[in-house]
Amino acid sequence: MHQLLKQDVAAKASQSGLLAPDTTGMNFYRADPALTDLLRIHLPDVLFNHIEPHLDRLGALAGGRLDECARLADRHGPVLHPRDKVGRDVQTIEYHPAYHELERAAFGEFGIHALSIRKGIMGWPDKYPVVAKHAFTFLFNQTEFGMGCPINVTDGCAKLLANFGSDELKARYLDGLTQTDMTRLTQGGQFMTEKEGGSDVGTLTTTAVQEGDHWRLYGEKWFCSNADAKVVMLLARPEGAPPGTRGVGLFLMPRFLDDGSQNHYRIVRLKDKLGTRSMASGEITLEGAIAYAVGKLDRGFVQMAEMVNSSRLSNGVKSTALMRRACHDAMTVAKNRVVFGSRIIDLPLGQRQLLKIMLATEQALSMSFLTADALDRAEAGSQDAAALLRTPTLKFRATRDARKVCGDALEMRGGIGYIEEFATARLLRDAHLGSIWEGTGNIVALDALKRAVGRHGAESALAADLHARLDDSAEVPQAWRDRLRGLADRAVGFAREVAAHSDSEAESRRATSLLYHVASAVQLAWEAQRIHARRGDARRLLLSRLVIDHRVTPSDPFRLAESKSQGAIAALLLGDRSARMAEVGELLRAA
Ligand SMILES: Cc1cc2nc3c(=O)[nH]c(=O)nc-3n(C[C@H](O)[C@H](O)[C@H](O)COP(=O)(O)OP(=O)(O)OC[C@H]3O[C@@H](n4cnc5c(N)ncnc54)[C@H](O)[C@@H]3O)c2cc1C
Repeated sequence: MHQLLKQDVAAKASQSGLLAPDTTGMNFYRADPALTDLLRIHLPDVLFNHIEPHLDRLGALAGGRLDECARLADRHGPVLHPRDKVGRDVQTIEYHPAYHELERAAFGEFGIHALSIRKGIMGWPDKYPVVAKHAFTFLFNQTEFGMGCPINVTDGCAKLLANFGSDELKARYLDGLTQTDMTRLTQGGQFMTEKEGGSDVGTLTTTAVQEGDHWRLYGEKWFCSNADAKVVMLLARPEGAPPGTRGVGLFLMPRFLDDGSQNHYRIVRLKDKLGTRSMASGEITLEGAIAYAVGKLDRGFVQMAEMVNSSRLSNGVKSTALMRRACHDAMTVAKNRVVFGSRIIDLPLGQRQLLKIMLATEQALSMSFLTADALDRAEAGSQDAAALLRTPTLKFRATRDARKVCGDALEMRGGIGYIEEFATARLLRDAHLGSIWEGTGNIVALDALKRAVGRHGAESALAADLHARLDDSAEVPQAWRDRLRGLADRAVGFAREVAAHSDSEAESRRATSLLYHVASAVQLAWEAQRIHARRGDARRLLLSRLVIDHRVTPSDPFRLAESKSQGAIAALLLGDRSARMAEVGELLRAA
């Protein structure tokens, strides 16, 4: 009887797997050979070997227990208690236990917020390079995107403090911001946006009044993620300072004062958000809050802006994570769900849909780790001007692609993709945030074109880097390298032209996308050679080809695609076997 029952349960489970296959129980690290390949390219062996077991553990947690926590934390969002039980104006935010479990993994076990600041985490004697840190960001955010924000702003606060804070402020606050001991951790927040403007920060109206060795802040902050953070960095205008961004100072505002009482600001309410519902974003009224100036008072905006490259990279990585999760989900459905007697993955339109999902995801993965690597090199002293341009292009394109990719993966699942019991609905809701915070699409495209190209001439460094990568990819067929060289020059030339003419501003988004697509096609080819040398697989070169064919080259909508070679490319990319450079080169010639 017992045996029968077990068989029945097993049969039902396998049937439900066919009816609604999903990623439950998948190890997101093991399921992602491209991640391993790129980490092996960008990290020294000794470091890669050290982090791999930790990535393996996080990959398993992210596809299992943490995914359940993320679902629960999203469903049972934070609740603000505006007063305490005896009626004092003390605000607390109550979180579901699942949120705390996610915190213990992200901040405690893996210490993602502090990997690039504090030595010794997970037994590594040094700080981790940005590439290694974002391998963890990438895996964690595949399951929980909301907490990605508190992790990133805590990291950013610590860096601002480390770079610009006085010794006294560092001594008081840096240890808590980088702690992995949950009893001593003090998470951070960054509150800039006001009702008058998020993009146009120079319009802010919060004022700072000096009082001895500290300042008092008055005004309102309109979007405050991680609203109950213990240490907040914010921008405010000191009394009498000039208008615009020049007059804005950077301040550190603790949640609690030395006597343990709450600082003089109130969390007025929490936002009812489309996505990132697990995490508390609030509105704050500053009622003489005590704060300390960080760095030079008239350089607050500049100091904050210096951090923008690293937070926009984090943003790009997080959107890439959403896409990877969507990709895993879509592949799982397509390989298991049978429609009209065939698996979806065996049907031509199913393959096309999957390739679109995969292409944007792999581009973003390549650009994420390339950009992280460039930041590592810049921090090590080598001025990588190309990073100035890569970061906004990644943030611009990856965050926008995530919206579409998550929507397409949802559709791949059919009707239940739209139902909140599956991750796809949450992914789609979360994906819409990436292109808003840390600068909306327009602002980031203008940043790429006006600041990076127009002011810093970063496109020359990018062009030189792309050519050097092609020079360094001698195994990639010559014809393809020549094609990429020509396109790289055209994309850079177009960006220059747009930046030079103020009446071309409306083309900034197109120019930014072109730079991203061409740079990613070059990078995919460069990676293909390296992965081929290590384990005989050149398939990333096919992705390089697809980027140019589908995202750069205009196509005649009335012309039939050459289906034989397209089918062969799809079979290779969607299949499990590797392909040598000669085979891939053959296909490139035929396509
Ligand atoms: C969930 C969530 C959490 C957030 N958390 C935080 C936080 O913790 N801290 C914080 O400081 N902020 C936070 N923000 C705020 C966010 O950074 C801002 O909403 C964002 O920067 C846009 O500012 P805004 O809302 O004032 O829109 P606006 O700046 O008013 O923009 C409105 C529109 O105008 C466009 N626009 C602006 N300038 C130009 C231009 N020159 N050319 C063409 N178009 C332009 C924009 O692209 C946008 O489409 C959060 C937002 C959300 C949604």
